Amino acid sequence: IPRNNQVKLLQYIPAFLEEKKNILIEAPSGTGKTAAILFPVLKFALTRGLKVFYFTAKNTQQAEVLKFMKEFDKEEKIVTVQIQGKEKLCETNQQNCEDCIYAHTPSPELDLHEGHFSIDKLVDLAHRYKTCPYLLQFKYLTNAFFAVGDYNYILKDSIVFVESPKKSIIVFDEVHNLPDRVRELYSVEFSEEEFYQLEKFISFYPYVFLSQTENLIETFKEGIYSGEEIKLKNITKKLLYKFFRAYEIAISKQMGFLAAKLQEFMGKLNTLKHIIKYGPYGMVEKKGGMKYFILDTEKFFKDFNKRFYSVIGFSSTLRPPYYYLEMLGFSSKDEFVILQDEFPRENRKVVIIPKVSTLLRDREKTVDKISSIIKQLISIKKGNYIVFIPSLDYLDLFKKRLKIFGYTLLVQNAIMSHSERKKFIHKLKNSTGNLVLALSGGIFSEGVDYPGEILDGVIIISPSLPQVTEEREVLRRFYEEKYGDGFKYAYIVPGMIRVLQAAGRVIRSSDDRGIVVLIGKRFAYKEYIDLIPQHFYTESPYELISGDYLTEIKKFWSLF
Ligand code: SF4
Repeated sequence: IPRNNQVKLLQYIPAFLEEKKNILIEAPSGTGKTAAILFPVLKFALTRGLKVFYFTAKNTQQAEVLKFMKEFDKEEKIVTVQIQGKEKLCETNQQNCEDCIYAHTPSPELDLHEGHFSIDKLVDLAHRYKTCPYLLQFKYLTNAFFAVGDYNYILKDSIVFVESPKKSIIVFDEVHNLPDRVRELYSVEFSEEEFYQLEKFISFYPYVFLSQTENLIETFKEGIYSGEEIKLKNITKKLLYKFFRAYEIAISKQMGFLAAKLQEFMGKLNTLKHIIKYGPYGMVEKKGGMKYFILDTEKFFKDFNKRFYSVIGFSSTLRPPYYYLEMLGFSSKDEFVILQDEFPRENRKVVIIPKVSTLLRDREKTVDKISSIIKQLISIKKGNYIVFIPSLDYLDLFKKRLKIFGYTLLVQNAIMSHSERKKFIHKLKNSTGNLVLALSGGIFSEGVDYPGEILDGVIIISPSLPQVTEEREVLRRFYEEKYGDGFKYAYIVPGMIRVLQAAGRVIRSSDDRGIVVLIGKRFAYKEYIDLIPQHFYTESPYELISGDYLTEIKKFWSLF
């Protein structure tokens, strides 16, 4: 990260933390952002006896953070733990740890007071000492100063992983992902089939219990379909209580299968309880049932943020700022820091080519025209380029119609293993003349660095708007009421986030050079272009619209 920004972060972060403020940071893409933010946070926490928890969406980023910790604490004197949930670490798939043999194996004679523990290391140790890796991580967590893991563990299970919230600083990487992640985590579906199964299961119970519970299930069903808040709230509470009793009986009678089913259903009821608590909630009809989900993440995060010493979130794209401040539950007492790009502006050429439509209905018609623009762009300077495309169908269309010579075409598949992805990056690192077709918002557009000569440019086809689904439409109506512009917040903002994340792949250090080309009519529309952060232009984003992109890009490359 450029020096000036580093200095700012070294000043701001401890000062704000001293006042226990939450901090949101927009910092342009580039190598070293994580380190520049973590360094002052860790220093502050060490002097105040606080713990630091770092959460991110990507495994690759967790590995980067652990690498940084190795630098920060070379001798591994402070306990650092990579955390994972039971679903990933459990070796026996048993519902209850108390019934599991691994929970009762004696604790290994380990030094719990120092060391860095990645998941691999924890699993390795657990195997060596014939104990459970999931439980072992908690032993280390008690003494840990630093922990890193996926968002889910803090958003859904903060009580499990964070022992002393008021003495913990929470750091979120790529924080723009959080509103959608919370909506995903706090969503639940109930189906007719499930109710039928439940009624069958509880027929094992004595008559009195059975008749009362059947009635409750019927009322719950009515509540689920009507969506009436008060009714739903009361009945969920009652049903939870009933099922907890049923669960205890199942456990005492060693009816494991029944207990597991009841536990699963109680988990769903608990999620619903939270969804209602953070209402207004969204509900949509699904085949044979109903789906509920959180709409307004502001309430959720307001509640979440106040539990910890401080919450720090950062991202390269937080536009519009007021939207993220609200959706992430920040208040006027908290801080929003915007850092400017300090990489030489002349090292990057950003152009918008708005002469072609990329609307769904026009794609078949315009794919050849866009293909010829791509060919022109990559022929100016031979190098490595990534074309980001918003959907798999659209990507397939380019795969069939884009004929290129003198370049190797690499195409992202719907599912790619870690090693396949590594092969792609390896190819880019070790050769030139590669054109990658990749998905916007996919594994090649976020959380991957392409330093130095690896990448000469990205070409982004179309704003990457989310698909129109019933859930999105409910969200659109919610934003319409909240901000008076539903389409913007439900579709354009997330669509442009993907675009800007992809654009950020090109310049990762002060020596990098490259082009960023946005193709599509809509990029020139006010609602879209206004979301482009200032570090992409000098005075106005409209200066990026190009009538003669070939001359401009030729001129740009001729400077090097
Ligand atoms: S003790 Fe470990 S292995 Fe056993 S059920 Fe619990 S998580 Fe699974």
